[in-house]
Amino acid sequence: MEREIYMDYAATTYIKPEVLEEMNPYLTQYFGNPSSIYRISRNTKMAIDIAREKIAGGINGRRDEIFFTGGGSEADNWAIKGIAFANKDKGNHIITTGIEHHAVMHTCEYLEELGFEITYLPVDEFGFINIEDLKNSINDKTILVSVMFANNEIGTIEPINDIGKICREKGIVFHTDAVQAVGNIPIDVKAMNIDLLSIASHKFYGPKGIGALYIRKGIKIHNLIHGGAQERAKRAGTENVAGIVGMGKAIELAVQNMENEANRLSCLRDKLIERLLQIPGSKLNGAIGEDRLPGNVNMSFEGIDGEILVMKLDNLGIFASSGSACSAGAIEPSHVLLALGIPAELAKNSLRLSMGSGTTEEEVEYLMKVIPETIKEFRKSNEKWNNR
Ligand SMILES: *Cc1c(COP(=O)(O)O)cnc(C)c1O
Repeated sequence: MEREIYMDYAATTYIKPEVLEEMNPYLTQYFGNPSSIYRISRNTKMAIDIAREKIAGGINGRRDEIFFTGGGSEADNWAIKGIAFANKDKGNHIITTGIEHHAVMHTCEYLEELGFEITYLPVDEFGFINIEDLKNSINDKTILVSVMFANNEIGTIEPINDIGKICREKGIVFHTDAVQAVGNIPIDVKAMNIDLLSIASHKFYGPKGIGALYIRKGIKIHNLIHGGAQERAKRAGTENVAGIVGMGKAIELAVQNMENEANRLSCLRDKLIERLLQIPGSKLNGAIGEDRLPGNVNMSFEGIDGEILVMKLDNLGIFASSGSACSAGAIEPSHVLLALGIPAELAKNSLRLSMGSGTTEEEVEYLMKVIPETIKEFRKSNEKWNNR
């Protein structure tokens, strides 16, 4: 059998067996609607409460500050639209960055159409925002700052502590899209002065289609989904009980293993980066060392179209991602890589390898052999690289 190596944990993860095991009874035996009052429903209601406690514990929030959503995108939409609409009498100015996930970026663009003003903070060559830029962007109409915890493409971890401190001092609501951070690196919403935080279960070995928004007690926010009184009348819709239970178990496991797993993955990451940097015309995209997500590698290889490289690796059973996105038939370079100041051509030459729980040292060693070979082969057909 041909081997398969999954290198796209930033896109999604598998469900861990222990997580699936906890979910199973809530898909079959305990199917009662949590809003009903008979026994099989009391079971489901209790399971939701336990999961809520676990999720709160994973980020040092309180149980009554966790609200379940249909995933990370919904949490981002809710945070940004909900705060914008609840504060529109106070101001119409929102600050975010040029490297956000589309769930944040396109939500901000939508609000722009409705008359909100958005500042997109620039980032440096490693992907960090500048704290002075943030301070200078705040005006008396600013109602929200939304800066991602860690970037999904380049793995850069933003200075969340500093951002939280400034926002709290100025009395501005601070939201962070922590979808890539939760379960991978330590998060403390209290110590970091975070008001809202987005979570998605399928990025840390839980099921897809379930997430949460942390909303600090006292923060005023409008609803995104109107209907029944679920989630203390803040998010309507019958709860995804099995999903919620799975997410609870997944965050518990992630927090237990976090330190070991982060150390293990950082070592593999640095080893792989070191080898790939020996390839002529290669460049690392994003931050170096501690300020990078443990499992993230993002590199550009001059003259190598990222999409084609991904397809060639696919043929070898290696599943990775390129930074570019296919929009309207044309390959567009990633807005994140462009924001780093990388020329459009080199931005299209990018490859993201994201490692996780199933990644082994042996797999990484195989990549260290196969990727340089594949690139060398690729360049044989290219005049410019023929002699190198
Ligand atoms: C995956 C991801 C999202 C979207 O989450 P979904 O659960 O897929 O909707 C948002 N932000 C970041 C940073 C992500 O990596």
